[in-house]
Amino acid sequence: MYLWLKQRYYFFNRSLMKNICVFCGSSRGFDRSYEAGSREFGKVMADEGFNLVYGGANIGLMKVVADEMLAGGREVYGVMPHFLADKEIAHEGITRMHLVESMAERKQVMAGISDAFVILPGGVGTMDEFFEALSWNQLKIMNKPIAILNLNGFFDHLVDFLDHALEEKFLRKEHRMNLILEKEPKALFEKLKVFKFVEPVEWVERLKIKGY
Ligand code: AMP
Repeated sequence: MYLWLKQRYYFFNRSLMKNICVFCGSSRGFDRSYEAGSREFGKVMADEGFNLVYGGANIGLMKVVADEMLAGGREVYGVMPHFLADKEIAHEGITRMHLVESMAERKQVMAGISDAFVILPGGVGTMDEFFEALSWNQLKIMNKPIAILNLNGFFDHLVDFLDHALEEKFLRKEHRMNLILEKEPKALFEKLKVFKFVEPVEWVERLKIKGY
């Protein structure tokens, strides 16, 4: 009930946006710009006054962002399955760690306590999390903004794929427009703060009749 009320109220009052979920690599990537860009992102996010929700690891870009947020005096919530925590990759300096049973539960909990999502460079884990959140929005299971920080052009191929899917009519224009894409953290947060969903009209009806 509380979550439902929070979601309703949040819909009318974006200033309630407090917790941002960041999906990013458990690696740092080869080019140093990924780490530098993630550090800068964490700094800006802390200055903006948000809290961080993330996978809870003490490795890769995940740790870089978490450490910057902690240095900026913000709250950091980790969500991690037991089996990963047992591998001793859990960050021990964060505000709170939620231990869960599975990867699926991890995504559910992360989405439940977050008001928006930001995607930084990463591997298949990051992509899995990104596409799941994107499809939840598309199906209206969820209604929370998603932004991509395109550090060093890392996501150019992903954007090409989405535009190709749009052109071939496997993706709706409105769903594509709902994705925020920025190269600079400050610009990304500016867009996130004023974001409004564009809803496709008669989407499912049209699929049934026309097939696209
Ligand atoms: P990666 O982008 O592959 O470095 O992974 C980033 C984060 O995603 C790590 O915390 C992984 O534990 C997590 N991850 C990996 N695979 C999955 C999955 N199938 N579902 C959810 N999270 C995942």
